[in-house]
Amino acid sequence: MKYELNMYHRNTPDQELLDDLKKVADQIGMNEFTREQYNQKGNFASTTFEKRFGTWNKALEKAGLKITRKQNLSEKELFENIEEAWVKLGRQPLYEEMKKPLSKYSQMPYRKIFGGWRKALEAFIEYINSNNEEVQETEENEQDENNSDTVEIAIKHKTKRNISERLKVQVLMRDGNKCKLCGITVTGEDIHFDHIKPWSKGGKTVLENLQVLCATHNLAKGNLEYNEK
Ligand SMILES: [Zn+2]
Repeated sequence: MKYELNMYHRNTPDQELLDDLKKVADQIGMNEFTREQYNQKGNFASTTFEKRFGTWNKALEKAGLKITRKQNLSEKELFENIEEAWVKLGRQPLYEEMKKPLSKYSQMPYRKIFGGWRKALEAFIEYINSNNEEVQETEENEQDENNSDTVEIAIKHKTKRNISERLKVQVLMRDGNKCKLCGITVTGEDIHFDHIKPWSKGGKTVLENLQVLCATHNLAKGNLEYNEK
């Protein structure tokens, strides 16, 4: 059936095909316009466009529907991507480093949305320093400790053990990517984020209670805590 349709559409003018693309784009909303969605609503098969225009994206472009994921990226997604890159490197990523595999996105969306890499970084730092979950949780925790008489509630964790990417960036911004004990520079998986007062002993997952350690010292600290028990 599809094959016959394609044969038939060989005679359909380009403009008619493109107009149908635009029509479906309008119906669906441009941002999530996939080949599959077109096939459900369009008058032709998506393969017809590939045959006629080379690739699906070329057909979209020809119809004036330049659809890329980049245009849909939110500021939050872009910030989270910098967070990940920062934690991997242990420091502020450079403009020229913002490419795969370190960065999921190219520099382009940062330039487009923020007007430049420098400005994107400024906005990012504001984002990192803005009030966040951890801070709110700390305030709650302190109130609880003041009001409670029992040890049980004081030990109860109000923060998650897991350290968010944002908090990791805050630690790296404060201390740099150097082991607090030996000063060695660490990157990637060699960066260990340590709870100064162990989480198991009621230490909180907050900036004040976190530090960077190298693998050796993180292991040494873990053993020490184990022996103390
Ligand atoms: Zn060390």
